[in-house]
Amino acid sequence: MFIMVHHRKIPPPKDVARERILKLSYLARESSDSHLGKRYMRLAEAIAKRLDMPLPIDIKRSYCKKCGHPYGNLTRVRIKRGLCLVTCSNCNDVRRIPYKQ
Ligand SMILES: [Zn+2]
Repeated sequence: MFIMVHHRKIPPPKDVARERILKLSYLARESSDSHLGKRYMRLAEAIAKRLDMPLPIDIKRSYCKKCGHPYGNLTRVRIKRGLCLVTCSNCNDVRRIPYKQ
């Protein structure tokens, strides 16, 4: 978004929250410390929950819901009968995500 606004309005809280969530998920992915990564994701979850908004779908799928560990290079992804099986490298929890072409 590169729209010039002359009278800069104070962004509504949801926009701020969204921005924060995006930033946190980015930090979580970039973080080499898995504990820190988890904390970032839990924080993002907390922000979303407080505002009663769902996490963006791409973020939702970028980390393990069970342990909060962000998916990375070690995450195993398998495609099986229209499902995307994602295995968390931290807790070995398997998530099934419907896969559409
Ligand atoms: Zn996990």
